[in-house]
Amino acid sequence: MTQSPSVQSVGTALLEVSHLTRNFGSGKNAISAVKDVSFSLQPGEIVAVVGESGSGKSTLARLVLRLLAPSSGSIGFLGGDANALSTADYWRDVQAVFQDPYASFNQFYTVQRILGNALALSKERLSGAERERRMRDGLVAVGLKAEEILGKWPHQLSGGQRQRVMMARALMLQPKLLVADEPTSALDASLRVSVLNLLSDLRKRYGMSILFITHDIGQAYYLCDRMLVMYQGELVEQGTVEEVVRGAKHPYTQRLLADVPKLH
Ligand code: ADP
Ligand code: MG
Repeated sequence: MTQSPSVQSVGTALLEVSHLTRNFGSGKNAISAVKDVSFSLQPGEIVAVVGESGSGKSTLARLVLRLLAPSSGSIGFLGGDANALSTADYWRDVQAVFQDPYASFNQFYTVQRILGNALALSKERLSGAERERRMRDGLVAVGLKAEEILGKWPHQLSGGQRQRVMMARALMLQPKLLVADEPTSALDASLRVSVLNLLSDLRKRYGMSILFITHDIGQAYYLCDRMLVMYQGELVEQGTVEEVVRGAKHPYTQRLLADVPKLH
């Protein structure tokens, strides 16, 4: 896969995360799941957030998605404060794909209804025919055949199909940013590469940015332009994937890399 040239930090960032902190619990049980994290993401960029389990990746994703409020710090979106937007407006531009599609679908709804409900978020008033077309286009974009999928319930789909339906649901809204939290970890190894290629393809086609969260530095290397490395809630390293992989400074990053012999 060709890596696109890394984007310089000029112009208006799509996302500007500034000194973001999120604490949980209190007293002896208090922890900072995310500690003073700052980074920016340019339009069209794919940035990885890499770190072991418990390092704060999903908390960061939920903060960026505004599913969780920060204890301190701020999120800028397209030059303004994300909080100045209603969540309904924000979620038209910022969509998510999670690890477990099963948990994020209503299992009593057919795919048609799941996708139709997502389209109801759209600001445009879509006719029935236009809704249908968007659903079909979304499914085609992720390599699914609409006529085979629309009438099915989530339990009738394979894991790979469910993951793709979740991506179709996000894409139908043509978001500017897709936050993908370990989107391949519920999939067989054989499907992982095809999901990574799909994401790369979608970036090329729609120009959207992707915040790609993974515990697998190999996947980050394969897909992303830049890499953020988290360790115990802190952002300990960031740079282009080449910079991080070739010149890892933090001992934790070096350990992560040691687990991926193919990158050496
Ligand atoms: P990762 O996605 O990298 O595995 P998480 O963001 O899920 O990490 O978790 C980071 C830390 O925050 C963990 O110690 C986790 O137990 C804690 N944590 C996450 N969410 C909550 C919560 N809602 N309440 C209490 N602790 C939480
Ligand atoms: Mg997680």
